[in-house]
Amino acid sequence: MPYFNVSIPLKLKTLTYQYDEELNLKGFAVQVPLRNRVVEGIVINKTDKPDKTVQIKKIQTVIGKAYEEKFIDFLQWMSSYYISEMGSVLRVTFFEEVIDLLSERKSKKRLKEKNPPAEPISFNVENYFLNNETISKIINLTRVGSYKTFLIQCPDFLYEIKLMIKVVRELLSEDGTILLIMPEIKEAQRLFNLLRSFNNQIVLLHSGMKHSELLFSIKEIVANKAKIIVGTRFAVFAPVKKLSLIMVGQESSWLYKAEESPRYHARDCAVMRGFIEGCPVVLTDFMPSTVSYYNALRSKYELIDDFNQSKHPNIKILRQPYQSIFHPEALLYLKLYQKEGILVTSPRSGYSLLRCSECGEVIKCEKCGYSMIFRKSTRLLECFRCGIVMKISEQCPYCSGVDMHSVGVGVERITEELKNIFSDKHVEIKEIDLESEQFQGIWVGQTGKIKKGYIADFKGAVIVDFDFFLSIPDYRTFEKAFAKVLSICQLIKQDGTLFIQTRNPGGEIFKFIRSYNFKDFYLYELKHREQTGFPPFSRLIKLMIKTKKTFPYETLDKVKEFLKNHISGEIIGPLKNQDKEEFMFIFRSKDKKRLIDELTGAIATLRTFKGISFKFEVDPVSLKI
Ligand SMILES: [Zn+2]
Ligand SMILES: [Zn+2]
Repeated sequence: MPYFNVSIPLKLKTLTYQYDEELNLKGFAVQVPLRNRVVEGIVINKTDKPDKTVQIKKIQTVIGKAYEEKFIDFLQWMSSYYISEMGSVLRVTFFEEVIDLLSERKSKKRLKEKNPPAEPISFNVENYFLNNETISKIINLTRVGSYKTFLIQCPDFLYEIKLMIKVVRELLSEDGTILLIMPEIKEAQRLFNLLRSFNNQIVLLHSGMKHSELLFSIKEIVANKAKIIVGTRFAVFAPVKKLSLIMVGQESSWLYKAEESPRYHARDCAVMRGFIEGCPVVLTDFMPSTVSYYNALRSKYELIDDFNQSKHPNIKILRQPYQSIFHPEALLYLKLYQKEGILVTSPRSGYSLLRCSECGEVIKCEKCGYSMIFRKSTRLLECFRCGIVMKISEQCPYCSGVDMHSVGVGVERITEELKNIFSDKHVEIKEIDLESEQFQGIWVGQTGKIKKGYIADFKGAVIVDFDFFLSIPDYRTFEKAFAKVLSICQLIKQDGTLFIQTRNPGGEIFKFIRSYNFKDFYLYELKHREQTGFPPFSRLIKLMIKTKKTFPYETLDKVKEFLKNHISGEIIGPLKNQDKEEFMFIFRSKDKKRLIDELTGAIATLRTFKGISFKFEVDPVSLKI
């Protein structure tokens, strides 16, 4: 009698069952007994008779084929790479929906297709310039049906969308399903609307959909009726029969990292899925991540540089003045071109921060220690982290000094200054409106609120207090700052100008930004990361440990002692979460594969420590707890 490993969508490893017949059940949905219940699971592989003397239970029912064998291989890779039980991996696939369809439990329920709102911005693919060579490369390889990852640096966000549309249209008559992944629901929905206008064999997959809507999409996919799938990160688990191409837009987006266990990265999963299923993968971005660029340098990916397919605005680096908000050159530009539309943006919200002239302290949140934002209109101080609001007092809370002054330039302060400068003229100073298609006048907005999908056509832009972006403690700070600049550049006409105001205009990063010199930027960045031992030159893994209230702290020391003896890489921690009974260790090692193996090997012992539960996060996007 053959034995099979079955995965059940619970936080469990695979369990072994036997079956009466000698069949290839890999990828089949089955019903198996578990404790006193009967549950559904998926057969992962055939296995030998276990040595254990425990009685092996039988598979009760074979429901039907749920997943392709290659898809099971992909899930197995996920389970080992992200150090996660197979059952947890199975939970993020569309297992529930697939079982519902196979067992026809919900067949009486009417399945309705969602009708997203109409597309407001008209796209004309025909009239938009795309690099034909790039398109043929993708199309030819898709027709051949073999794996390769292309990394395409696009001139802007629109180029990415249009490239997707063009490629999809060219490939519609071909066999197989095309999977398009975007970081945000709104962007996925927009792409879906655009594509639906010329093909109705298309489905949407994102986390904002209702179960019945998801069921509709999965039904079409399982029945092999969907030629195109558009979705957000979890669409990478679409149970497709035959994938012909995967395209991932905005590949550097942190939104591709899942927030729940297993904390997978959809871009990395897309590359692995393409590799396993033997289809090309296309990653696009106007500022590819340093890690992806590194993969291109090592010939793991093929880099296609389409950035200069269109002209880009001028970038000027100016010294941020101490006494005023605008540098004279930026101010002159504002006066000359305000009629054509100028965006003024700052990373800071509110009016400013408040600093005491006597002791030099900036007012900080009592709870989290974050600098509080001063709102002049309401005379309130606000913490953005914990939402605490308090009245501003006349005295410094630290030294009782009475001379408080503003530091940093928030959007309220910019608006006030602009209203003073243009008080006698009829110049409109407006708060940025992401829905508006009018760009004349001066628009003010916080940089973080300007989404990547926003499309605008300003004559110029000024980024005030740019140093804020460079002061964020993160090993990817420079990469993110450069990406911010590019995202503002896209909102400006090709003959326009972007002014960046900084206290350090001679800073290394501005040499690259000023001339859009990506090649040297990435080399500089990679050299720096190699010296400091950050990805892609090392692997980072977080271990999050939740503890019970009564948990003795000595246990944590024992955990650390065990990890020290067991793990060859560097160990940082335990760091405590201020709000919860939660601790974090960070592991770092240059031997990337070994670190995963060692931590996988540590699981059994970690489980023996009483009063804790734990989970791993491989390749974390943030090192904060
Ligand atoms: Zn003070
Ligand atoms: Zn706070």
